[in-house]
Amino acid sequence: MDRILRGIMKYRATDRKTMVEQFQRVRDNPEPKAVFFTCMDSRMIPTRFTETNIGDMFVVRNAGNVIPNSQNFPEEVTTTEPAALELGCVINDIRHVIVCGHSDCKAMNLLHRLKCEEFSSRDNRLISPLRGWLIAHANASLKKFEKLETGGFHQPLLFQAETPMRKFVAYIDPDNKFNIEDKLSQVNCLQQLQNIASYGFLKKRLETHQLHIHALWFDIYTGDIYYFSRQNKRFVEINEHTVMGLIKEVNRYYS
Ligand SMILES: [Zn+2]
Repeated sequence: MDRILRGIMKYRATDRKTMVEQFQRVRDNPEPKAVFFTCMDSRMIPTRFTETNIGDMFVVRNAGNVIPNSQNFPEEVTTTEPAALELGCVINDIRHVIVCGHSDCKAMNLLHRLKCEEFSSRDNRLISPLRGWLIAHANASLKKFEKLETGGFHQPLLFQAETPMRKFVAYIDPDNKFNIEDKLSQVNCLQQLQNIASYGFLKKRLETHQLHIHALWFDIYTGDIYYFSRQNKRFVEINEHTVMGLIKEVNRYYS
């Protein structure tokens, strides 16, 4: 807490004035560009690695960048992620949703261990909200991952995107650069696109191409960031060689 209080004193002396001016500009002319879902991990600071600023993004962070599927709420929806989608995409008319996973994700490491029946037993879930959260809302990711495992990690997976008709194929880590848990993290990241599209209040926007869903993946070990390219059917590292192609793809598919 000492670190936080001293940090606030530093902010008062340095950034506060400019930030208040920016708040004013955003209030007068709000133009948020994206709803950004990522993990709560302390290493994930999305405004830093996307160089975005005040007014640019609505950021939602939780354990494992999971967006519960609407099927998990037969009646009233009671978690923050869909509420955030409504606040961002409906009330503020934001046109892009981004889900960003990462390597060495503690939530994904735990999800992988939940394959073990004893580890994921009811008694263990009752004493661990994190296990409960992952079993309830990330089990579909685990099931997809098991399919990948059965195919020896070479077979592509099929995911659903904006509508049930808009499916896409994904080769997960075809160069075999990442460990098992990181592969699961990539699968989980893509599974969230389907979960987002499961909400009725977004249906019309998704069908009429007014709302688009993207996946990013951050490699903690190298600092490289990957964009899931539906054209290339894989996560493509964003760098000086690929960025123009990715911008072209994004503009063609999503403008
Ligand atoms: Zn994480």
